[in-house]
Amino acid sequence: MRSDTPDKGGRTNNLKETLLNIGIAIAILGGSYVIMHFFARAMYVRCESCAILNARRRANCRACGNQLRK
Ligand SMILES: [Zn+2]
Repeated sequence: MRSDTPDKGGRTNNLKETLLNIGIAIAILGGSYVIMHFFARAMYVRCESCAILNARRRANCRACGNQLRK
């Protein structure tokens, strides 16, 4: 990867490397977002009346006391 001489298409290679790094960063961010979203959906339930997140084991909302749907 670093064997290319800087005066022979080095600029193009740097651009490609930058784009590749950006792609990897987006893939990592996207992947972690999907994982976080999955865990949030698995562990929390959103109150219907005030839209706050509650732990799934709760029967009533911690903020407004509204009964949570299982
Ligand atoms: Zn609530």
